[in-house]
Amino acid sequence: MDLSNFKSGFASDYETSRTMFREACGKQYGKVKALPIIDDCTIDLFCREGTDKKKLLFITSGQHGIEGYVGAGLIQCFIKEYLPNLDASIGIVLIHGMNSWGMKHYRKTNEHNVDLNRNFMVDFTKAAADANPFYLKAAKLFQPARGYRHAFLETIRFVGSTVSLLMKMGMGNIEKAMTLGQFVCDKGLYYGGHEDEPATAIMKALYQEYFTKYEEVILLDMHTGYGPANHMSIVNSRFEKQSSKEMKENFQYPDVVKSDAQEFYEIYGDEIDYLYQTFPDKKMYAATFEFGTLGNDIMGYIRTLKAIVNENQAYFYGTGNERQKQSIKEAYQKLYQPMDDAFYQAIYPQFVKAMDGILKYYQYIK
Ligand SMILES: [Zn+2]
Repeated sequence: MDLSNFKSGFASDYETSRTMFREACGKQYGKVKALPIIDDCTIDLFCREGTDKKKLLFITSGQHGIEGYVGAGLIQCFIKEYLPNLDASIGIVLIHGMNSWGMKHYRKTNEHNVDLNRNFMVDFTKAAADANPFYLKAAKLFQPARGYRHAFLETIRFVGSTVSLLMKMGMGNIEKAMTLGQFVCDKGLYYGGHEDEPATAIMKALYQEYFTKYEEVILLDMHTGYGPANHMSIVNSRFEKQSSKEMKENFQYPDVVKSDAQEFYEIYGDEIDYLYQTFPDKKMYAATFEFGTLGNDIMGYIRTLKAIVNENQAYFYGTGNERQKQSIKEAYQKLYQPMDDAFYQAIYPQFVKAMDGILKYYQYIK
């Protein structure tokens, strides 16, 4: 596939992306099932059952709504480049728009401001108010409860709060405070909710159905925004037994990390962790593909933090004018929906290399 063909798989609005998914699967392989969530937003599921029930490949996108545009584009690449060559014995499930409302509205969270990747709790009694003691300490920075009225003043306040928190908590704890997940502020960041969200319940049922039907499963979940800029990292669960070093060798892929405190960040309600905990005896490999955009050095991290805080503030409390709203949206899209030439050139070879490495290692392809 050349780069322009690859690019043609990416859409910039929800309806187009979903239509492209339905057509790409539907034309050749059979109908896509649309599972309603809210309004006209649906989780779209394509399934090609394997002729035997040994191997299953499950690819999901849009768990973080806005990240679904990249995810859906990568699934288009998979449909064109991999699906026709995968043996008919292998079962394939593809998910478009797990958080379809968020995708449609260019938000990461869903219709209840819940981050679905903090909502896959095995046990909701662990979703306690004190689950993340750092969050409330940093709430002034994370969720200013006022409209975004003056860009210059907001920047000064953001820098002031960040510097003061850096001195009090250190970078590691600020990152932890934000990304660990929290269950107290429903207008806050990385809010995990208090029960299974509609999409979570649907996905849990699908995992139950398909994972029990097949002997061996690979699940890959598409994300953007974290890790080194322009690198696609394979992020493994902290429950995965193989080390990142072993996996780099096995997959012949350089960027492999584990989502534990040492290598990436540890989180509550993570979907991949949920799968390892729910199917402990399953022959399974589940991981996320994370395409880094603004980078994970200190400046990249601060820009990331600012984009997330401003977007949430603007969503809940509004902006002074349309121009501010637009510039906040643009910064957020740069973080999660990077669709420039540098992005396409970087991600295409990395996606193919990671897919090849994983599918070869688990003998899905030769
Ligand atoms: Zn994500």
